[in-house]
Parts: sequence; structure tokens; C-alpha cells
Amino acid sequence: MSHLTSRPAPNSLGFATRAIHHGYDPQLHLGSLNPPVFLTSTYAFDSAAEGAARFAGEADGFIYGRVGNPTVAILERRLAELEGGEAALATSSGVGALTALIWTLLNSGDEIVADQMLYGCTFGLFEHHLPRFGIHVRFVDLTDPAGLTAALGAKTRMVFTETPSNPNMRVVDIAAIADIARRAGALFVVDNTYCTPYLQRPLELGADIVTHSATKYLGGHGDLLAGAVIASKEIIDRLRFTGVKELNGACISAFDAFLILRGLKTLTLRMDRHSATAEKLAHDLEAHPAVARVYYPGLASHPQHALAQRQMRAMGGMIALELKGGLAAGRALMDKVRIATRAVSLGDAETLIQHPASMTHATYDPDERARHGFTDGLIRISVGLEDYEDLREDLLGAL
Ligand SMILES: *Cc1c(COP(=O)(O)O)cnc(C)c1O
Repeated sequence: MSHLTSRPAPNSLGFATRAIHHGYDPQLHLGSLNPPVFLTSTYAFDSAAEGAARFAGEADGFIYGRVGNPTVAILERRLAELEGGEAALATSSGVGALTALIWTLLNSGDEIVADQMLYGCTFGLFEHHLPRFGIHVRFVDLTDPAGLTAALGAKTRMVFTETPSNPNMRVVDIAAIADIARRAGALFVVDNTYCTPYLQRPLELGADIVTHSATKYLGGHGDLLAGAVIASKEIIDRLRFTGVKELNGACISAFDAFLILRGLKTLTLRMDRHSATAEKLAHDLEAHPAVARVYYPGLASHPQHALAQRQMRAMGGMIALELKGGLAAGRALMDKVRIATRAVSLGDAETLIQHPASMTHATYDPDERARHGFTDGLIRISVGLEDYEDLREDLLGAL
């Protein structure tokens, strides 16, 4: 449902136009340019019969704040449209999106095959906590699709990846993995946090489900926590009416939904700028004598450079690097920068620098880090929206 009643059909409009308008018509809200923030926990029914019909799914309308809110519904329509999915569910955090998804769709005894490199708390959930509920995760290198074929078993219900992977920027071939997962009858889930639908649309490449930490680029300003799942209406209805309603309660606030809608207005501008600055900085860093290795898909030295150029509109704002002086040199770099901020999270206007092994990915113990293939010395930079020249001087000066 587009709500763009007097305007052309959404599909004929460009991405930026849809990111600004889709799913909201000011004329339905007293002409208010911006969507109202509906601060309400519950909704009045016309009659007892009407309330019963809404609960039975026989009448449209809101029931209770945990399962729906008009401001949140605008955000959900817009996210579904931008990712090219039928429906979306917004949640209180990215982790809330993942637990709603997995606790709803999987049962004890089921298996997940996941890429070997995941965001720290996703890894914590998969490796340390899902097994307590009888769900087991096999980690494989999904940059090699043949590895997936070998890992699939009779109980595999889900294949899960990030691409590029947090923190070390490995790029997974979404279309190739989708093909293998479909033939095995497993749902293929892509965490699209690093790219947003502007840079990469996994559903169009054959994935079944997209997840987001909307805390990052979708919100874009470091002032909220939120998550999202985009999939078929059938799956989203189950996640809403079982996952969030009865399992994790991870509903997003109307105000945070409003802030994400505001962030989406500048999504294309921000992603273009993040990508352009990161691409230049990645080249600068790679050329510096103190740097051992830069992980950025826009560099010719990146192992999946050609795939990334096919799969992504631009190479994004995230860079990882290792210094020749290892962790000690990385810590010194972090302590010397003056514009980049020492902080976790990503996707904000401010450039953020952090050390995954002791911060975002501290959920991996040293053995796990070695097994999953990322080093102690890795430094992660979320390139912000400041002037390129200032960031260049800040980072190269600190090196
Ligand atoms: C941050 C992050 C998450 C978790 O999202 P929260 O909003 O912090 O709960 C999941 N996946 C990726 C790739 C992330 O960067």
C-alpha cells in the first residue's frame, strides 16, 4: 500500500525519491510535511465486535503498541519498498531483529550455516546461546560457495551472512549462495547493515530475508537504536505476531521510527559521500609505509574486488586495516587521532575508530578469533561525513 494516491506508481520513481516519500501522504495527516509521531500504547475499538475482529485478523486496524503503530507502519512500508520486499518489521535493535527472526522461524534441532565472520553479538548469539536452545550453527567460509554445499545437512533450515562482513570486509556472492540455499530448501538471510538498500539489494539477487541494524546507516546520526527485517508478507506476519508479540517484545518506539524516516531522507547523499571519502582514504592508507594491509572492497588488492563492483552500487564507508606494528601500533593510532572518535557503532556523520578484538568482537575468544580468521591487530574505521582532507590529515598524521 503506497499512500501516494495522487502520484506515479512507486516503481517508476528513483531510489532517492522513494526514500523521501514512499508510504506517506501528507494529505492524510492534515497536510503535515513530516509524519506524526503517534505516542500511544493502545488503540480504541469502535465496538466490542470490532475489537474482536481486529484480534482475529478479520478487520484492519491497530491493536496494541507491541504489534503496530502508525508512525512505525510508515517506516515499515518505506523499508520494504526500498529493499524490494513485500513487507518489513521494524524492531528496537538489530539484535532484536535477529532474535525475532530466529526464535520464530527455527525450532530445537534445526541448523544454521553461517559465514565465518559476523558482527560480535550475532556471533555470541549463534555460537554461545542458540545451542542452549538446541539450534546449532556451522560456520563456513561463504566467500567460497562450494564450502556451503559441503556444510549443508538434512537439518539446515537457514543460511546466514553479512556482506561485506563486519569487521574484515569479506564479500560474499549473494546470487551464488542464494541459488545453493534455495536448492537445499534453506532460507537465505543477508544482514545488509553495511550497505543499506541503496548500495545493495539482496532480495533482488535471490535472498529470502534481509536484516538490518537501523542503528547504523539507516538512522545515520548515532542517536537511536533500531533494527529491521524485510521479507515476504507471510514471514513478516509471523515475526510480528509471534516473534515480537510473544517472544522478544523488541518493538521500536514511534519516536525512533520518526528519526529513521528523517535519516532516510538523506540516505543516498550520505552513502555517496561515505563511499567517496572511504574510497580515497583506503587508497591513501594502502600507500602508507606503516600500513601492512587495508581491507576495502574498492581496492584492486581486495580478494573479491570484481564481485563487489558487480554486487554493490558503491563500496561503502567501512574500512579495516592492519598496521606493520600490529596491535600496539593500532592502539597508538587510535590514541593519536583528533577528528576520528574512539567509539564503536558505525554509519554516523562522525568518523569512528575502534579495535574489534577488544571491543565490538570481544565475544570471540582468542582461539575463536584465530579459527574465524581475524587478527588481533585489526583496526576498524567507520568513515564519516567530514571533509576528506581533514580526515586524511588526521589519519595519516597519526600514523
Ligand atoms: C551493529 C550491528 C548489528 C546489531 O545491531 P544493534 O542495532 O546494535 O542491535 C548487527 N549486524 C551488524 C552487521 C551490525 O553492525
